[in-house]
Amino acid sequence: MSDEKQCPKCAETIKAAAVVCKHCGYNFEQQQVQLSAKKKRGCWFYILCFLGLGVVANGLVLVFNPDIKPTVPATPTLSADQVADQTRLKSAVAAAKAVKAALRDPDSLVVERIGTDDAGSLVCIEYRARNGFGGMNRSFVAFKDGSPKEEASYFNKSCPKAVFILTDRVNRRL
Ligand SMILES: [Zn+2]
Repeated sequence: MSDEKQCPKCAETIKAAAVVCKHCGYNFEQQQVQLSAKKKRGCWFYILCFLGLGVVANGLVLVFNPDIKPTVPATPTLSADQVADQTRLKSAVAAAKAVKAALRDPDSLVVERIGTDDAGSLVCIEYRARNGFGGMNRSFVAFKDGSPKEEASYFNKSCPKAVFILTDRVNRRL
C-alpha cells in the first residue's frame, strides 16, 4: 500500500513512483509545477494588494487630513537690500505719478532722471513736460516725505544726496 498511490483524476491505484498515470495519463510532475507556480503568484498577489492598500490609505489620509497640505514652494524671502530697494521704488513711483497727475498734459511727461535717498523719504525728479504754449519745459522737483517742494534751491540743496538709478523702472510704471 505504501508504494502505491491513488490517481486523483481517475481514482485508479498506481505505483507511488509513477510520474504519469498508466490509466488516464494524468501527469503528477506537471501538476506539481503548476501548483507551486500558483502558490508563488498568490504570494505576490497578496504583497501587491497590501502595498496597494497602503497607497490608498495614504491617499485617504492626505485627502481627509486638513493638516497635511501638498508642499508648495515657499515665497522667497527678500533680503534687507531688496526690501529697501522696493521701498525706494515705491515712493519714487508715487512721486512721479503725483507729478504726472498735476500736469496740464500728463501724457507729455518725460522723466529724465529720478532717484531717492537711502531711506526713500526724499525723491528727486528731473522731468520735461509740455507747457501751455506747446513747448517742452524742463523742471526739477524734490519730494520730501511725499510732499512736493518746487523750489530749485531745495532741489539743489537736497538732491545731490539722491541716487538716480530708478529712471527706467519708474518710467515703465507710469
Ligand atoms: Zn489516472
